[in-house]
Amino acid sequence: MNYMTFNNSKLEDIWNSVLVSVERTLNDRTLYQSFFENTKIDSINGDTITIVTPNSYSATVLKTKYLDLLQNLLEEITQSNFKCLIVDESSLEIRKREILPTKIETTFVSNLNPRYTFENFVTGQCNRESCTAAVTTAIDPGHFYNPLFLYGRSGLGKTHLLHAIGNYIKTKNPSMKVLYTTVDDFFEEYVKAIKDKGIEDLKDRYRQLDVLLLDDVQFLAKKEKTKEVFFHIFNILINAGKQIVLTSDRHPQELKSLEDRLVGRFSSGLSIEIKNLEYDTALRILKKKIETLDINGSNISDDVLEFIATNYASDVRQLEGALNKLLFYAINFNQNDDINMDVALETFKSLKTSTNRNQLDCERIKITVAEYYNISVNQLSKKIRTTNIVIARHIAMYLCKELLDLSLTKIGEEFGGKDHTSVMNAIKNVENKMKQNSDYFIAVEEIKNILKK
Ligand code: ADP
Ligand code: MG
Repeated sequence: MNYMTFNNSKLEDIWNSVLVSVERTLNDRTLYQSFFENTKIDSINGDTITIVTPNSYSATVLKTKYLDLLQNLLEEITQSNFKCLIVDESSLEIRKREILPTKIETTFVSNLNPRYTFENFVTGQCNRESCTAAVTTAIDPGHFYNPLFLYGRSGLGKTHLLHAIGNYIKTKNPSMKVLYTTVDDFFEEYVKAIKDKGIEDLKDRYRQLDVLLLDDVQFLAKKEKTKEVFFHIFNILINAGKQIVLTSDRHPQELKSLEDRLVGRFSSGLSIEIKNLEYDTALRILKKKIETLDINGSNISDDVLEFIATNYASDVRQLEGALNKLLFYAINFNQNDDINMDVALETFKSLKTSTNRNQLDCERIKITVAEYYNISVNQLSKKIRTTNIVIARHIAMYLCKELLDLSLTKIGEEFGGKDHTSVMNAIKNVENKMKQNSDYFIAVEEIKNILKK
């Protein structure tokens, strides 16, 4: 959702969704019909949504009893931090007569999710650098690293940090125009602007921003025309000293089919990788999540948390998923308040056996390639230049890219800390040999087939 598309029908959609949830939550037809049914959103000005009720009585009831509910639902549906102003129709008319002679403010929605803040972002070795850069950027937008480019695998907190930057800036400078959006949303907006012949308006609206937080720029590569407009907006904002923060699942230089000029611009500030989670950061994240959850006095034993941190630490989303699964199981099936290892093993029984066996990961690729070439897995990552080992190493790297789409940096790390240029050369080398040498081609295909089993 975007601030540009907040026309009347969008307001109506938002309010209808709120009403559906209210009706479901209240589960009381009379109450709903008496106070909610004929309400509507009148307008959004800045961060205030004005809700109008048909009479003063319903306005009083909504204000005194249901303001929190409405505010929470609005926040959930718009993912923005709105204040709710409830007025009845007759007083709204009077207010409008008083206020309207001045120009109507343009609607501006930041799209920030208030749940993602720096306070609830746990830092460790994997993300300390990126979090520090994010805080520095938020403290003085436009002055330090521009653009700031955060990259890393999915589920490691990129989106969280983007929102945290935005939320921090908005708390300190409420008047700053901060926009969070994703490349997909930007693309939709662009398509709509083309249809409505409103490209210039779109550019103008972005030009007004103080801070642009753009998520998932790896998807920009596929969107030909959108790239042009984005490049234009990007340059205007950067030249005007406005802050841009971008995220991607890989380093700018690895964004295939993005022109050099964009790659160059993306890398011109500071690029930082959020690395894979370490065990003790995973454990601290779990503890932090538990603090914020209302788990009714249940006590989760330390060995259970250690178990989850060990088995699900590949990213934070997985970690949260595992914790939720455990709590769901414990709440529904566990007889007492203690969540111990028995409960954990029971919860994850089916999950472990189904995911681990066939899961394709870097480790499995290494083991398979090593077995195929009759060498040890360790030799793959050491600086050994024996032909056989080099061939195996290159093929293993190639398969990590081909089958897992890991970033070159990540592959480099997996193979004894090689830099991304060496990894890229190794992969190119395999691609060329596959074209030139049928024995080589067959070997790679055979390994792939083993991995498919
Ligand atoms: P990405 O955008 O990199 O795919 P997200 O920012 O969406 O990842 O993170 C996935 C989930 O994990 C979110 O719920 C987020 O709040 C949480 N999360 C990620 N990193 C951390 C962290 N360091 N501390 C606390 N929560 C985190
Ligand atoms: Mg994300």
